[in-house]
Amino acid sequence: MAAAGTGVFFDGATSARRAVLVELTRDGVVVRDAEERDMLARWPYDELDRLAAPEGVLRLGHAGARLLARLEVRDPALAAAIDEASVPVDRSGAGERKSRLKVIGWSIAAVVSLLFGAVFGVPALADRIAPLVPLSAERWLGEAVDTQARRMLDNGTAGGTFECGTGSGEAEGRAALAVLIGKLEAAAALSLPLDAKVVRRSEANAVTLPGGHIYLFQGLVDKSENPDELAGVIAHEIGHVAHRDGTRAILQSAGLSFLFGMLLGDFVGGSAVVIGARAVLQSSYSREVESAADRYAVELMNRAGGDVRALGAVLTRLGGAVHPGIAILADHPDTKARVAVIESLAGASAPPQPLLDPAEWRALKRICTGR
Ligand SMILES: [Zn+2]
Repeated sequence: MAAAGTGVFFDGATSARRAVLVELTRDGVVVRDAEERDMLARWPYDELDRLAAPEGVLRLGHAGARLLARLEVRDPALAAAIDEASVPVDRSGAGERKSRLKVIGWSIAAVVSLLFGAVFGVPALADRIAPLVPLSAERWLGEAVDTQARRMLDNGTAGGTFECGTGSGEAEGRAALAVLIGKLEAAAALSLPLDAKVVRRSEANAVTLPGGHIYLFQGLVDKSENPDELAGVIAHEIGHVAHRDGTRAILQSAGLSFLFGMLLGDFVGGSAVVIGARAVLQSSYSREVESAADRYAVELMNRAGGDVRALGAVLTRLGGAVHPGIAILADHPDTKARVAVIESLAGASAPPQPLLDPAEWRALKRICTGR
């Protein structure tokens, strides 16, 4: 092991490059002028900073030093000796190793999910796994995806804050929404709390993310003609929550690598979360999934004491609407069939009291505008 060698030293104050002798002592690197032998620097091993350098050059700095002095070593034997003496310098790069491990983990996850997908089929696999995801994990997944989804949904064109009900004059609307959600939530008796909000987007649509996050677009509130129509759509979205469709959609699009990403900690802000948010926002559900949510909505509206047919009415009104990008609620070629099913399930029961009184409904209609 080389205990001494040569290098080039920059004192950080001038641009002069000096040929130096580098000695490795017991507790640090000592740098001396090659000719005059006077000591230019004494850097303890644990205060060495490895700086970016071209291939074949070990460039060191002194951590926390005021001057940007640096030492360059080209002698491989000496560089190796410095490596060995000082763990933190670590020329192989612990950080790089870590991210390499992460990439390996992701690759394994991708291969495993491909294999599983090939054996069972990805949708079937997602069907099997979604119910097994613990609720705590789903809530956590929901939080992560929620942040990303909000960023994707907020196109910033509406002006004001993205979420309605936060401005002055909107508090009553927010309170009315809380009443409506509270009635549906009580009837649904879900095992996780709902987080439903109205946001400034003009489409008449709604989006449900894992973990009970429901986004109702302002356009939907505008197009709803009574509280039970809006409640019907919310009940349909709660159906997606209860059936864990958001989690299933994410598992289908990102596969098991999503779960592995969670395990590896490369999750929040990682690519998995972007894939996941996109999966929920851009994929539309199959006919089976949608009609299951419709059936759930009819049952829930019944239990909450609302007008079971209102969902059919609002779907009919929105049926022909075009919703670029996000097409979860309205993109149904078979709206008529859905409405017919809702009607048949509704039976002959008389329409009961609306879920909100007229004053509350007026306030809710103004949740994005104040007055
Ligand atoms: Zn749906």
